[in-house]
Amino acid sequence: MGDRDSIGSGPAPLDASKLKVTLSETLKPLQPIETLRFGQSFSDHMIVANYDPETGWSAPEVKPHGPITLDPACSCFQYGGNVFEGMKAYLGPDGKARLFRPDMNMRRLERSCGRLALPPIDGDVVLELIKCLVDLERRWIPKESGYSLYLRPTVIATRPGLGVIASDHAMLYILASPTGPYFQVLKPVSLLAVSDNVRAWPGGTGGHKIAGNYSPGFLPQQAATAKGYDQILWLFGDDRRITEAGAMNFFVVVKRDDGDGVDLITAPLDGTILPGVTRASCLALAGDPEFQKESSLRLHPREMVYTMSDLAKWSSEGKLLEALAIGTAVIIGPCNRIGHEGKDIVLPGAGMGPVGTALRKKILDIQEGRTEWKGWGVVCP
Ligand SMILES: *Cc1c(COP(=O)(O)O)cnc(C)c1O
Repeated sequence: MGDRDSIGSGPAPLDASKLKVTLSETLKPLQPIETLRFGQSFSDHMIVANYDPETGWSAPEVKPHGPITLDPACSCFQYGGNVFEGMKAYLGPDGKARLFRPDMNMRRLERSCGRLALPPIDGDVVLELIKCLVDLERRWIPKESGYSLYLRPTVIATRPGLGVIASDHAMLYILASPTGPYFQVLKPVSLLAVSDNVRAWPGGTGGHKIAGNYSPGFLPQQAATAKGYDQILWLFGDDRRITEAGAMNFFVVVKRDDGDGVDLITAPLDGTILPGVTRASCLALAGDPEFQKESSLRLHPREMVYTMSDLAKWSSEGKLLEALAIGTAVIIGPCNRIGHEGKDIVLPGAGMGPVGTALRKKILDIQEGRTEWKGWGVVCP
């Protein structure tokens, strides 16, 4: 105890000013951008920090990207203690690297850690570390529009032992991966609406970005692929409420009865929906008079419960105009058909129309630094 410099003040908080830098001896060659596949290649370095219940957070360290060594009894391997974030750094025409609303990712990371009873972590400090990594790995950000450096901050439970209890040890690591458009340039995706498997349920963890939410979806995803669909539209409940598409939020654009423009509809944040940064940004833009003016669109953002029968009804009445899958990786992508009980709902214009197009353009302009918008683009470092 005597040699701790934090006596009396508890375990040390994460501190970006203590960052140690161990650079890689040889830097990897950059890959031609056409060959980039989402999350398949990584930059030269990563940032790592460890939490010990006695001493707190270690000095974070930049080190070469590579394997980590852990006791196989660690909580993350046995009980799935693992939370993560997904964000992107874009290179602007001014040569600056920008993150998109990273504070929202950091608050979500704090909430995810809290939900899994992981040691507390200060998201603002994680953001400082992310900015350091982006600055260090600038050469990995492709300059072409739609390309970016995908960042994957991860916190894992590293308590070594089989006790079924909260982990009092943790590791933070931040990976960087150069990435292109998630799907081939705006190739529409087809969705299979599924209700025999559910992604999330009231009181569950679907509203948090925790690893355990994802692997149970792989088997239903394989079944959907075998039936010729790209992604799953997750339904919930006897009334077949629409929740999310794959690991993306889902929006539909519906013509209004009063003729006053269109509704932009998505499910409410009731704990079964991941509170996406892109989702929140689309809702905010849709309700913003300035955006409506510049896009010449009359939009009514609505977070509401809606079901498969609503979709079928709107479609048969010709009111279902667009269906959009939304998230950091894809930004905004069209859904061209939705299969349910042997029939397909087919979207006009392959799912994308003026609303999806205007939202996508605006968000990409902000992300790539062509437009200033309410402080959403945050320059690194
Ligand atoms: C990450 C994620 C999203 C999208 O969130 P963004 O913050 O926009 O990237 C949507 N749904 C699920 C299940 C997710 O994991």
